[in-house]
Amino acid sequence: MNIHEYQGKEVLKQYGVAVPNGKVAYTVEEAVAAATSLGSAVTVVKAQIHAGGRGKAGGVKVAKSLDEVRTYASEILGKVLVTHQTGPEGKEVKRLLIEEGCDIRKEYYVGVVVDRATGRIVMMASEEGGTEIEEVAAATPEKIFKAVVDPAIGLQVYQARKLAYDINIPNELVNKAVKFMLALYEAFVDKDCSIAEINPLVVTGDGNVLALDAKLNFDSNALFRHKDLLELRDLDEEDAKEIEASKYDLSYIALDGNIGCMVNGAGLAMATMDIIKYYGGDPANFLDVGGGATTEKVTEAFKIILADPKVKGIFVNIFGGIMQCDIIANGVVEAAKQLGLTRPLVVRLEGTNVGLGKQILAESGLNIVAADSMADGAQKIVELVQ
Ligand code: ADP
Ligand code: MG
Repeated sequence: MNIHEYQGKEVLKQYGVAVPNGKVAYTVEEAVAAATSLGSAVTVVKAQIHAGGRGKAGGVKVAKSLDEVRTYASEILGKVLVTHQTGPEGKEVKRLLIEEGCDIRKEYYVGVVVDRATGRIVMMASEEGGTEIEEVAAATPEKIFKAVVDPAIGLQVYQARKLAYDINIPNELVNKAVKFMLALYEAFVDKDCSIAEINPLVVTGDGNVLALDAKLNFDSNALFRHKDLLELRDLDEEDAKEIEASKYDLSYIALDGNIGCMVNGAGLAMATMDIIKYYGGDPANFLDVGGGATTEKVTEAFKIILADPKVKGIFVNIFGGIMQCDIIANGVVEAAKQLGLTRPLVVRLEGTNVGLGKQILAESGLNIVAADSMADGAQKIVELVQ
């Protein structure tokens, strides 16, 4: 799960990570009121969307007066911001962070991730802050320094100190940088983060070490023990179809293609997407209805697929092990009855109760193309949507 920058900064503050003073605003009036109460000489107006690269896209503006705050807030609120992380459709800005402007002496990068290669938490730091860290990693990987953390003892002071020296934090501020890194690590572990990225971390003219940006991602599987974090979820930032699917406990991810897929088992779902691609098609979604799905769950899954206007055809690919083919067939027929089915539907069923499943589909009066195998089904649906 992803949260906004201003929320991330609130979370980090609880652990002693230094952040500038700031307030969220949903309207221009709130933005001006927030700037008034901050009372800083310079105020920064920052678009809050779940994507980075806002600065370059015009989503971060430095205001020198309340009038400028008003101007920038009205410009940015409601604007569709297109950054390298939003995709070409962009994201509409509905919230702003009104923040104290800070006198930046230098920008750095600090990030914490779970590193799959070592199976440990790794803190990364670089002197090349503010820019995209992916570019630094590609062009000058020697400028990224890493500390691998032993989970039994956590990030050690000497490791943080070494990172601070590696990235050339000014000597007199090394202690503050160390404190910052230890607090960031503590927040990461305590909140079950999957990513905590501070880009930039800045050293200021008046000798502070601050997080000027904050990107926190949380492990969704651990959210059950963080009720406070669940309240930070912003459904506006998520795909409506995925939200609907999560209500029914379906594993559903929306994709860009036009072939809707209904599959059971994550492995088969992946293989189905691969084989559609292999025959020149593009899947519109990943969908695993799971092992013991009920007719109701299958109906909802099929409805979510049908509700997507991008879907030009549907491929149902089921291997009935725990899942029974007749339940799938009933779900498909039920959803098609409720919503009507005008788009081509290819069905490949195999396994438990396959005969019964095929019979239900055959007697439904729906226009269904039967497939003998996965490859046959994929080929057929790709031809039908072309
Ligand atoms: P993004 O990564 O989405 O572009 P950032 O929060 O990193 O957004 O902001 C982009 C740049 O704007 C920063 O690198 C920094 O130079 C400047 N900036 C952001 N917040 C402030 C602030 N409070 N005071 C001064 N400059 C800021
Ligand atoms: Mg940034």
